[in-house]
Amino acid sequence: MSVPVQQTSAAERPEELNPFLIVQNEIRKAAELLQLPAAVAEILQEPARVLCVAIPVRMDDGTIRLFRGYRSQHTFALGPTKGGIRFHPQVTLDEVKALSMWMTIKCGVIGLPYGGGKGGVVCNPKELSAGELERLSRGYIQAIYPLIGPDTDIPAPDVYTNPQIMAWMMDEYSRLAGRPVPGVITGKPIVLGGSLGRNEATARGCTIVIREAAGEIGLRLSGSTAAIQGFGNAGAIAAELLSGLGVRIVAVNDSRGGVYHPQGLDVAALVRYKKETGSVVGFPGASRSIDTEELLALDCDILVPAALENQITESIAPRVRARIVAEAANGPTTPGADAILTARKVLVLPDILANAGGVTVSYFEWVQNLQQYYWTEEEVNRRLEELMVRAFRNVYRMHVEKGVPMRRAAYMVSLARVAAAMQSRGWL
Ligand code: GLU
Repeated sequence: MSVPVQQTSAAERPEELNPFLIVQNEIRKAAELLQLPAAVAEILQEPARVLCVAIPVRMDDGTIRLFRGYRSQHTFALGPTKGGIRFHPQVTLDEVKALSMWMTIKCGVIGLPYGGGKGGVVCNPKELSAGELERLSRGYIQAIYPLIGPDTDIPAPDVYTNPQIMAWMMDEYSRLAGRPVPGVITGKPIVLGGSLGRNEATARGCTIVIREAAGEIGLRLSGSTAAIQGFGNAGAIAAELLSGLGVRIVAVNDSRGGVYHPQGLDVAALVRYKKETGSVVGFPGASRSIDTEELLALDCDILVPAALENQITESIAPRVRARIVAEAANGPTTPGADAILTARKVLVLPDILANAGGVTVSYFEWVQNLQQYYWTEEEVNRRLEELMVRAFRNVYRMHVEKGVPMRRAAYMVSLARVAAAMQSRGWL
């Protein structure tokens, strides 16, 4: 996670950075290009259902604190809704709605039988004790219990939530239901029905898409260089997997700062260092520190934003020197920046494709829970590879055939599928 870059150029007004308006606009444009019936974009403009909750939590000092939370369910056209839960101080309703809409598009790109969902709780988990975090996680599930379930809406981890939090949430749901319900949530610890390979899945999917894209533009990965913004689940594991393919990871950062080494950082040592100290800052194997702006504009082949929304802005985009931007985060590039990158022939691998590995293996986890039969890690990874490569090919073909950027192409691939489901249901 990285501190959001604050400065935006005059052209980008705050409402243009509202992810809800951004995704609405993208849906409209892709639907137009596909010449879909007007009802498709109309129906998909808003989530089908949004729940706002207030969660009272007893803090360790005995006082009660009220936390706000949301769950947005975008569309049930393709099946139950699916998507993570974010714990972050800056969570807003519009953000959660947008994230649920991106989940619809993401699931459609891969071909999963889901619509999009997303949840968020306004809190700073870094300031909560383990007990407070557990009570908040359980309280959130109590509040959204009537609207979730293995065949309704299936949450998962997102920014600052993890397998332990998923375990508490699954346990709370099961208590309320009066029976074990492992399929209500994914990203669980393995012992509770989590899937092998889920923890690495977002980064693995992103790495597969980078590899395919590099093949298309004739970039040899071995000996190439990458900078990674954010060193959480997606960023840190992407660094490991990319360096396994011979990519030199020259810079990484997290919410406290960044580190740089022109010869490439020792990623395994860096992961150990972050585990011990809580940050990459001060890593002895780096040649110097680096700030977010410099990292995003670094001279490297591949840039992986793996933190939050609106990081690559119009003021940064003209300075990005990477040939590939692979969005491991959701919504890291503003629309203005996106247009600049496209004009500069930077290949942007959009979030709805590049980070879809997470929800893909979540789907595998859910399938394993429902059939109560568990796959090997090789099986999971083989199927992930198959679905990611197929999705990349479909999107790349649309990109070439229609002459549209990869993001628009991904929306088009996905919306064609969602619209077909709506049509068959008689919604149009
Ligand atoms: N939070 C992840 C995403 O944004 C994963 C969602 C899931 O596994 O359902 O794609």
